[in-house]
Formats: sequence, C-alpha cells, structure tokens
Amino acid sequence: MIEVHDLVKHYGSTIAVKGISFTAQPGQVTGFLGPNGAGKTTTMRILTGFLPPTGGQAIVAGYDVFEQSMEVRKRVGYLPESVPLYRDMTALGYLMYMAEIRGVANRKQKAQEVLERVQLGKRAHSRIRTLSKGMRQRVGLAQALLHDPQVLILDEPTIGLDPIQVLELRDLIRELGRSHTVLFSTHILSEAEQICNSVVILNQGNVVAQGAPSELRSTLERGGRVMVRVSAPSDAVLPIIQGLPEVARAEVSAESIVVLPANLETDPRPAIARAVIEKGWDLIELRPLAVNLEEIFLELTQQESAAEEAPAQPTENEVAS
Ligand code: ATP
Repeated sequence: MIEVHDLVKHYGSTIAVKGISFTAQPGQVTGFLGPNGAGKTTTMRILTGFLPPTGGQAIVAGYDVFEQSMEVRKRVGYLPESVPLYRDMTALGYLMYMAEIRGVANRKQKAQEVLERVQLGKRAHSRIRTLSKGMRQRVGLAQALLHDPQVLILDEPTIGLDPIQVLELRDLIRELGRSHTVLFSTHILSEAEQICNSVVILNQGNVVAQGAPSELRSTLERGGRVMVRVSAPSDAVLPIIQGLPEVARAEVSAESIVVLPANLETDPRPAIARAVIEKGWDLIELRPLAVNLEEIFLELTQQESAAEEAPAQPTENEVAS
C-alpha cells in the first residue's frame, strides 16, 4: 500500500509538488496521470526512497520513505522513465548483476525467474543491445521485480513502444497488479482507463481528482454536458435555454442543442425540461453526453489553470478529491 499525506517538494524556487495526498491499494493498479511537468516523476522518486520530500509524509509498504528509506527500497520495485541498461551484457547477465547489487539470494535462479515472468526467458542469453525497445523495457521491469517487492512504481513504462508491445506490457502490468500495489504513470488517458482500478490526476503539483475511472466519469456526467432535442426550431429554443441560470453555455450541434451547465454540481436537466414544456414544445431527447477520461482530464486541468489565473474567483467548479 502507498499512503501519501500533504507531500511537498521544492527544487530551489520551483515547487514541483504542492501538498498532495492519495492512496494506492494492494491488488490494484493505480494510474498516475498528468501533463508534462505535473510532478509525477518527482512524486514517484520520493516514493522509492531516493529523493527526500520537502514536507509531508509518504508511507510505502508500511514504512516512512524519509525516516526508513532503506526498508522502503527493499519493498519497492522501480522502473524509471529510462532504465540504465548495460547494452553489452546479456539480459540474464544484467539481471544477475543487479541481483548481486541488491543482495538477492540465488541470483541466477531469481534472474531466470523474473525473465520468465516478463516472457523473455527465450532471450536470456541475448545481448541487451540486440533486443527491441519493448523487450528492453521488459528487462527493466524484470529488474524491478528481482527482489520480490510488494510495491511497483512504473514511470511511463509504455512510452515509445509499438502498439503490439504496448498491449503486451499493459497485460503484464494488469497481471502484476493482482499481486502487487502498482502505481504507474502515463499521460495516455485511454491507457489509464483500460488498465487502472483507480486513477490520481495531477496537474501543476496538485491532485485535481482521484477515484475509479468510472466514478470520475459519473462525477463529470452529473455536471457535464447535456444534449437536448426539442420539436421546435433551434434558433427559437437556444435563447430560452441560454437564459436559464443553471446553464453556462448552449450551442446548436446538428439536430440538437448541447448545453454546458453553470457548474459541476448542477444538473441542468430539470430546468431545461420545465422551460421546454412551459413553451408548449415537445421534449424529444434530454440526456448527458458520455464523457471519457480525456474530457475529464481536460476539464480538470483547465479548471486548475483558470483558477491560477484568476485567484479571486470562487472555485465552485472544482472537483475536490
Ligand atoms: P513529465 O511527464 O514531463 O516527466 P512530470 O509530471 O513527471 O513530467 P516532474 O518531472 O516531476 O513532472 O517535474 C515537475 C516540476 O519540477 C517541473 O516544473 C520540472 O521542471 C521541475 N523539476 C523536476 N526535476 C527537477 C530538478 N531536478 N531540478 C529542478 N526542477 C525540477
């Protein structure tokens, strides 16, 4: 398990992580999502016990990353964004070498075991430089598994892989998630939606949302865009809907009108239905538009940027986590 409380990290005058809190549960894959510079790598490096935080607390596998970093390192497997592999070594030789550095017993057996686990048993004697990028990434993952860690921290493991390699690695991460606490970062939202039981969305050093992808989707659907179809010309209907206090914006789209509610807590549908009926029109369709994680992510990160630009505005649109 990973528990993070009010974690802060400064690099000189840059505040990379601004007091974040979240948890990652055992037996689950938790996705760590965010645009470039959101603070994902910084947080992950703190969680591996290699980078001290400026403030707050992180408990990994029951140990404090700052106070008990050696205990944490024994229990965490880390796949950094670029793994420093020794290209002239064989996959097996490299893993035996890493096992020795980490003080793992039965080095050869363990190295063979993790190679099998990442489906590279047949390439044990290939030099790393002759392996494809996807295979090298799996050697990196094998290295993270050598010491039987309870927790796996994987920093953008699928970046730069071809589509088949991506699918294979995602399957492997999903499988590892059943027996480990997995935290993996990505900026590919559909990837998080496919693999993760839970996601933490980070933006500019803050957690802007967390929960199961389906929970986040229903939060946004509650206060998300709504589609309306009415038995009247759109140019007559539009000003009526636009005039409702529950509506921020409405626009014509094909045969229907798409409505953006005044804020995320407001469901504008009852007000729209009443207004249409009062006018004597027939309400043909009134439903939330399906949202995907991409839209949630954009919505949340844009809200944060807008709040930063206008700090005096109330943050009623915020989806607090
Ligand atoms: P990416 O997806 O681009 O890797 P990220 O979400 O992992 O981004 P971080 O690498 O943690 O983000 O960076 C967070 C912020 O901290 C950025 O503004 C970055 O420029 C800054 N930063 C990261 N490492 C350092 C460092 N060693 N010294 C100074 N600033 C740093």
